[in-house]
Amino acid sequence: MFNSLSDRLTATFKNLRGKGKLTEADIDATVREIRRALLDADVAVSVVREFTAHVKERALGAEVSEALNPGQQIVKIVNEELVSILGGQTRRINMAKTGPTIIMLAGLQGAGKTTLAGKLSHWLKKQGHTPMLVASDLQRPNAVTQLKVVGDRAGVPVYAPHPGVTSEFDTPTGDPVQVARDGVAEARAKLHDVVIVDTAGRLGVDAELMQQARNIRDAINPNEVLFVIDAMIGQDAVNTANAFNEGVDFTGVVLSKLDGDARGGAALSVASVTGKPIMFASTGENVTDFEQFHPDRMASRILD
Ligand code: GDP
Repeated sequence: MFNSLSDRLTATFKNLRGKGKLTEADIDATVREIRRALLDADVAVSVVREFTAHVKERALGAEVSEALNPGQQIVKIVNEELVSILGGQTRRINMAKTGPTIIMLAGLQGAGKTTLAGKLSHWLKKQGHTPMLVASDLQRPNAVTQLKVVGDRAGVPVYAPHPGVTSEFDTPTGDPVQVARDGVAEARAKLHDVVIVDTAGRLGVDAELMQQARNIRDAINPNEVLFVIDAMIGQDAVNTANAFNEGVDFTGVVLSKLDGDARGGAALSVASVTGKPIMFASTGENVTDFEQFHPDRMASRILD
């Protein structure tokens, strides 16, 4: 990901090498190139506009520096602005002071929630936590079974609706809100310090399902609501993120499928548009393909 954006930006900055002082025309040309590169990477138009306006304003106002030549100065500005639209500082999980830390997952079907549940619990376990998973996705056939497989792989227990209670489509019946509530109660009783609640997603944003997610949220009062988004969905990312932000007021974003050939627009738009930080990145199908998201490192990777 970001390869093309990275190449384009690097090429743009190369043109500035060796220039003694940048004229306004130089800055304009550079900003224009940055704008094109970001738009081609599927970054949302509103984000591009704001980003380039900041870069231009700061580049025009930049003091002549002893340490940095003008080209380096623009790279520094772009780097700082990238860190800023990616959410600034690394945002860690807001852990409960007492009782289990409750993490709810939300997002479209296929976004990577169930996979993430496994990765996140595996990662937490490695840090000495004792996570438990709760299967509140009763919408999709096999979602419960899939979470159990994921839990097994990560070596964490899964609370699920009673086995055997399934419809003809192998979809567990029951009330997902009640399952979430019972699952959290069980985690509390069994002294798990983190409980991760997987919820249902649809292919498109859906009012009924959003209400269900909101009901689950209100029933379990989570410390974090993580919105999982497939980085490959490009320009659609912003609309989806806005809908979930309004619907469940999530507290953080997880970007999934960063290992694909996504152009990076989702990553660069979602935090900025929703004002919510990107907290984790999912980079493959294995339980270990997962990392904490660091805006500064991602910006450096883009400008490498
Ligand atoms: P859910 O419907 O949101 O629970 O999504 P799933 O967790 O079932 O993921 C949907 C598909 O995407 C599955 O085939 C996963 O193996 C795959 N997937 C999830 N995360 C990643 C990732 O980070 N990279 C890649 N390449 N595939 C992923």
